[in-house]
Amino acid sequence: MPPRIRMEGLDLGYFEGRTVYDHVTGCLIWVKGSIAGDGYAYCWISRKPYYGHRLAFYLKWGRWPTEAMHSCDRKSCVAWWHIEDGTRSQNTRDAYARGRRRPKRPESMHNTHLDWPQVREIRRIRAEEGLTYREIGERFGIAQNTTRYICKGQTWKE
Ligand SMILES: [Zn+2]
Repeated sequence: MPPRIRMEGLDLGYFEGRTVYDHVTGCLIWVKGSIAGDGYAYCWISRKPYYGHRLAFYLKWGRWPTEAMHSCDRKSCVAWWHIEDGTRSQNTRDAYARGRRRPKRPESMHNTHLDWPQVREIRRIRAEEGLTYREIGERFGIAQNTTRYICKGQTWKE
């Protein structure tokens, strides 16, 4: 049942700055909000809690999923291209369960041009040259937050 809250003015941009893109898996990892006891990302809107992945599905498709499922099996992922409504596509769900399908990737994200050599260089610069995240980010054309998550090993895990 759709909640009676004001979702006007809220769009997928909501996830900007709250998530970081994982270039390896194509996941959008929730890093700024909360993680529920069951491992799923959640957030508060108008003093009500919402699962991040369900919210992502809603903001993308304009309806709430009956049963949102991750094609990537990553509970903290809110990538709407990884969220499917399980009850509406039983076949799809079965296919994922049997490992026949691979999670999709987005068509474009601002930092998809990063690769492992660049990530290692970013970490090296941070460790050896002591540049700020902002300075490193500008050098590589990525957000300050993205740089920080990389340096802290929250993304691009070796
Ligand atoms: Zn994912």
